[in-house]
Amino acid sequence: MPPTEHRPSGTPQSQAVDSPRVTVIGGGLAGSEAAWQLATRGVSVELIEMRPEVMGPAHHTTNLAELVCSNSFKSEDPTTAAGLLKRELDSLGSMVLAAAHATRVPAGAALAVDREGFSALISGVIANHPLIRVVHREQTTLPDGLTICATGPLTSQHFEGVLTDLAGPERLAFFDAAAPIVAAESIDESVVFAASRYGKGEGADYLNAPMDRTQYECFAAALVEARRVTAKDFERRELFAACQPAEEIARTGPDALRFGPLKPVGLTDPRTGQRPWAVVQLRPENRAKTAYNLVGFQTNLAFGEQERVFRLIPGLERAEFLRYGVMHRNTYVDAPHVLDRTLAVRSVPRVRMAGQVTGTEGYLEAAATGLLAAVNVFAEIAGAEPFVLPETSALGSLVAYATNPETERYQPMHVNFGLLPPLAQRIRGKRARYEAYAQRASDDLELYLDTRPDLGLEQTRQAAAALMEAHHA
Ligand SMILES: Cc1cc2nc3c(=O)[nH]c(=O)nc-3n(C[C@H](O)[C@H](O)[C@H](O)COP(=O)(O)OP(=O)(O)OC[C@H]3O[C@@H](n4cnc5c(N)ncnc54)[C@H](O)[C@@H]3O)c2cc1C
Repeated sequence: MPPTEHRPSGTPQSQAVDSPRVTVIGGGLAGSEAAWQLATRGVSVELIEMRPEVMGPAHHTTNLAELVCSNSFKSEDPTTAAGLLKRELDSLGSMVLAAAHATRVPAGAALAVDREGFSALISGVIANHPLIRVVHREQTTLPDGLTICATGPLTSQHFEGVLTDLAGPERLAFFDAAAPIVAAESIDESVVFAASRYGKGEGADYLNAPMDRTQYECFAAALVEARRVTAKDFERRELFAACQPAEEIARTGPDALRFGPLKPVGLTDPRTGQRPWAVVQLRPENRAKTAYNLVGFQTNLAFGEQERVFRLIPGLERAEFLRYGVMHRNTYVDAPHVLDRTLAVRSVPRVRMAGQVTGTEGYLEAAATGLLAAVNVFAEIAGAEPFVLPETSALGSLVAYATNPETERYQPMHVNFGLLPPLAQRIRGKRARYEAYAQRASDDLELYLDTRPDLGLEQTRQAAAALMEAHHA
């Protein structure tokens, strides 16, 4: 089918539009933000979106920036990671955030939007921008020139080959089977013990939660009975081939977990001098050891059930969950080995990636990486220094984590305080600690942005504010 070009009537036929300088593939949250960021800085863009010619399994409309599931962008409280990200996106002049504010619906402390109104607003803003040309076709090859790939977690099959070529063999995942992550400070250190199996590895790499027989049986029973998320058809196809969820292992027999992810061999509890009946291992997520994942606990349990059941694990009774386990189809690259801090593909730096294909997760994280990729493309065109945010900011810490070659077993990640470098001083009390993180993030980001008057940030801030004002209900 021939591609459909969308150019609103009355749009000036600028030379720039006729020879786009940057191609953005995918008109989701990341691609729409990226296209607008570039165009607002005077760079012409061709935005290629396959819908409605080719519809993906989760999208239902022809709108750009369609929300495939919830209509919530989570909390606005800046002492939460999601709220802090919003504050940062505000100071970076995010169009997606401005559109969310303009179409918000009452939702307590959360920023929720009128689903249709939000995507329709963004579609209109993009379509009416004189420097953006929207083309509706499925992209199946890598375009020439500066390019941003933002084809999302459900990238079309024909484009997966392009991503595989870009990322390199074994560096493209098609499935997200992530275990939950808990905050280190919420783990009861009087219960868990630090040790590596058979004493191997560098020092005591893991924390180990020991279980006696009764605790194990009680936990295994709760796991089997817990409520699961119903997989959509497109997920069910691949679910069990990719990786077994812990609850499925538990279902195969009473000892299955003890001979699987909970095996106690090679571990001695220093308090009893004995090998426990079963052990849940917790592996550090980062060098600062501020967050730990539950090894082998890919799970399809509903989020509330994960809290209830995994808090039965000794030492995790008060665990704070930084990320829940998920299992669903998700196309993403092994960013720590594929992308640099500007989201450029290390082997083909004229190409950047943005959104969920980078392995970052969440609506606003997608918009945020679209923004970062675009500002870095602009910096490249302008001959300016790369745009790299401080690691103490919510967005900076996410990108630092995602693109650090030392990040092992990369799994999709959303912003969370566990990614931030520890504070200089230990602060007791979660609320006070999070306030300190938020304050440090804002201070450092402001200082950094003050050093970058060359990147047109004031321009996008004003354009985003104008958009919000013009469309506020
Ligand atoms: C089923 C599902 C539910 C989710 N629910 C939530 C949620 O509730 N909250 C949350 O915060 N996050 C959620 N996410 C995660 C994530 O935030 C969203 O997927 C988000 O939309 C990602 O933004 P994106 O721009 O990377 O991708 P998308 O928004 O998916 O945009 C990618 C775009 O690229 C287009 N495209 C794909 N291939 C091609 C091609 N070859 N040529 C041209 N165009 C192409 C697609 O049609 C799509 O419009 C969910 C993910 C999935 C898969």
